[in-house]
Amino acid sequence: MAAPHRTRVHPDPRREALRQRLRQQTRRALIGDGPAVGVDIGGTKVAAGVVDGDGRVVAHVRRETPTKSPQAVEDVIAEVVEELSARHEIVSVGIGAAGFVDADRATVLFAPHLAWRHEPLREAVEKRVRARLGRRVGRRTLVENDANAAAWGEYRFGAGRGESRLVCVTMGTGIGGAIVNSGRVQRGRYGLAGEFGHMIVVPGGHRCECGNRGCWEQYASGNALVREARELARADSPVAHGLLERAGGDPEAITGPLVTAAARAGDAAAVELFEDVGRWLGIGIANLAAALDPGTVVVGGGVSDAGELLLGPAREAFRRTLTGRGFRPELTIVRAELGPSAGLVGAADLSRGWG
Ligand SMILES: [Zn+2]
Repeated sequence: MAAPHRTRVHPDPRREALRQRLRQQTRRALIGDGPAVGVDIGGTKVAAGVVDGDGRVVAHVRRETPTKSPQAVEDVIAEVVEELSARHEIVSVGIGAAGFVDADRATVLFAPHLAWRHEPLREAVEKRVRARLGRRVGRRTLVENDANAAAWGEYRFGAGRGESRLVCVTMGTGIGGAIVNSGRVQRGRYGLAGEFGHMIVVPGGHRCECGNRGCWEQYASGNALVREARELARADSPVAHGLLERAGGDPEAITGPLVTAAARAGDAAAVELFEDVGRWLGIGIANLAAALDPGTVVVGGGVSDAGELLLGPAREAFRRTLTGRGFRPELTIVRAELGPSAGLVGAADLSRGWG
């Protein structure tokens, strides 16, 4: 009798995971822990470096991000890879990009700040590097979402070391999010997990660049901090005089680092602005705890430079909001340790076949 016909719509996820793990182990055995190039593409700067097996950046280059042309950005990436590989025997290349990266870690589906739409970034960079050098650099090139890359850096070499259930929240202009479970980045079914910044926390709230309203990053990010500070300054309230003075009297000249410096110097309005952003951060982390139950949340990005001015109010709001509080173990909220190089360190290490 013939075996019953079975239609397979999706491959068995367990077998798929096993296959992926085996592939990864093979790759790691082949590639080892040699020096890898990490590239972090930001809206204004391309930062790249050679990262050794202990997560140290042993060489570093920086370029301006060229305007809006994706091809020009790819040229710059190829240029820095060429430069860095001239003096180091590179085993692999990892590129961290702010955007939605597909599950194969090859194509940027959408990058709001870089005009990339279904851009086959891995192929484009490999082609350019080959054209410049007449050979490949390293055994492989990999593209990763920048927040995933930064989280991996913190997990391997920074504030997330030893944590088996880690969540990272990167507070830059927006919010970057990532999940690392049992030594693997959780990318979701389509590569798009961890976009915490676009969870809606205030229905009908502030308009977000993503097109929705009331996203978390509209309340807990560098942009939110600056927006509120400028609004306060424009209202000409006496409490904002300290901030205005630092900005030379122009509310539009207020920046995130300016508010941070003012808060550190004890300016009451600046401290309050961090309390507000911190509160939103804590509420969002309580939501993440409800969904993911991590042991540690690492908070990175420029806004985290304010340290306890941000994290103190965040912890307080977190404790007040956490579901089941008082009857459950609580996660710890800590500041990232690797600073602005987390992304390139993580991207380089992931390209070796980890994560
Ligand atoms: Zn949004």
